Amino acid sequence: MTKRPETLAAQALHQTDRETGAVIPPIHPATTYMRDENNALVGEMDYRRPKGPTEMQAANVLAALEGAADARLFSSGLAAIAAILDTLEIGAHVVAQTEMYYGAKKLLHHLAAKGLISLTFFEPHDKMGLKQAVQAGKTELVWIETPANPSWAVVDVAYAAEIAHAAGAILGVDGTCSPPCTTRALDLGADLVMHSATKYLNGHSDVLMGAVVTKSQDERWEKLCTGHHLTGAVPSAFDSWLMMRGLRTLFVRFERQSANALKVAEAMKAHGAVSHVLYPGLEDHPGHAIAARQMTNGFGGLLSIRLKGGPEAARKLCASTEVFLQATSIGGVESLIEHRKPIEGPSSPTPDNLVRLSCGIEAADDLIEDLKKALDRT
Ligand SMILES: *Cc1c(COP(=O)(O)O)cnc(C)c1O
Repeated sequence: MTKRPETLAAQALHQTDRETGAVIPPIHPATTYMRDENNALVGEMDYRRPKGPTEMQAANVLAALEGAADARLFSSGLAAIAAILDTLEIGAHVVAQTEMYYGAKKLLHHLAAKGLISLTFFEPHDKMGLKQAVQAGKTELVWIETPANPSWAVVDVAYAAEIAHAAGAILGVDGTCSPPCTTRALDLGADLVMHSATKYLNGHSDVLMGAVVTKSQDERWEKLCTGHHLTGAVPSAFDSWLMMRGLRTLFVRFERQSANALKVAEAMKAHGAVSHVLYPGLEDHPGHAIAARQMTNGFGGLLSIRLKGGPEAARKLCASTEVFLQATSIGGVESLIEHRKPIEGPSSPTPDNLVRLSCGIEAADDLIEDLKKALDRT
């Protein structure tokens, strides 16, 4: 029988332990694997860096959820992005968004400053801008992130794939904020999808990890896998095991986080201290129609609000909540709040009155009550 993604996730592909009958696979921290009297490997592995068994079990669950041909795990989300960029030719032209995770943008600028890539940016909502940024026969990679952290602007994945492919480029998607329980970007035309597994995929703010999945096992994927074991930015077996445990509850976590964020967004819209609520799940969000098409199982737990009282009100709000913890990061079961501009720095386009909220799985009414009380203090 063909199992549905929810089943594959909950059972982590039923990768049990044959030796003991354990319903959960053991962690394999061994770095090295034995050979027999003919110097042949006893199993499939010889050393953990290229393909540790626990890492591959976790990667295989993710690949199944994404409908991918293969997957690799990395020691962080940024290491995963770096591995994708490392597959490009020297001097490759890359098209990316003006608004995106600031660390990834810094990495792009870092490589451009060394002359390794050239960059053209487009506004995430601007379809014509994307089309004009891509150069036929020259652009090698179109890199998108949707919804874009922290403005939650929505990019049309299918359209970006069409534009990239028409120009002979590939489409890479940072799917961190739209995990495979709601968006299967490969099905929409992406060639590579990357995740900071640190966020939703693990979901418990206790693992730093990245992942890349591929539509096909082509030459570029071979290059990526070579880079993966040559540079060695691989996760630990324990982190991989934890991430696989996290994946088992991805669907239910994401569903609850989406429901909570929608309630919080609606409550914030009605609040007099708030000038803007940025959440793709709201019908008046400019990207709502596209998001509804490509986020088929919820809009996620992430939203931002902008405060009429400016940066000082934003600072005070983040310092005054009790349920929301003031900390960076997103996608965990506990709600987090952050005044984003001081974190991203002066070169970031993020408005200085923007507060980013990552809604967890707590009671929605507690989240709303907490924000309202804290807003009263601003
Ligand atoms: C956090 C994040 C990253 C970077 O991931 P790390 O695991 O922190 O290296 C990349 N993209 C997005 C959208 C993120 O939120």
